[in-house]
Amino acid sequence: MDNIVTFELFGLPPIEDVLPDRIETMHKVFGKNDGNKCGDCIYFVRYKQGSRWSKCSLTVQTGGTGTDWRATWPACGRFVSKDE
Ligand code: SF4
Repeated sequence: MDNIVTFELFGLPPIEDVLPDRIETMHKVFGKNDGNKCGDCIYFVRYKQGSRWSKCSLTVQTGGTGTDWRATWPACGRFVSKDE
């Protein structure tokens, strides 16, 4: 039994739809910017140094993976498009 089936059994959303606390906190503090993704925001920073990772420059950043950010996450209310 995989995770998706397990979640469906308990009436929970698929695991890929569950967001971590760090982005949920941004949504609670700043609201959401529907229709946009973090990866299109000027505060989304990509790093490449042997491996690749990303961070949101508007929140806490550490050297660990606990503050890594995903381009696919729904944007918060502080979203500013890279195209502006
Ligand atoms: S939309 Fe921008 S400021 Fe908001 S969480 Fe995503 S990267 Fe950070």
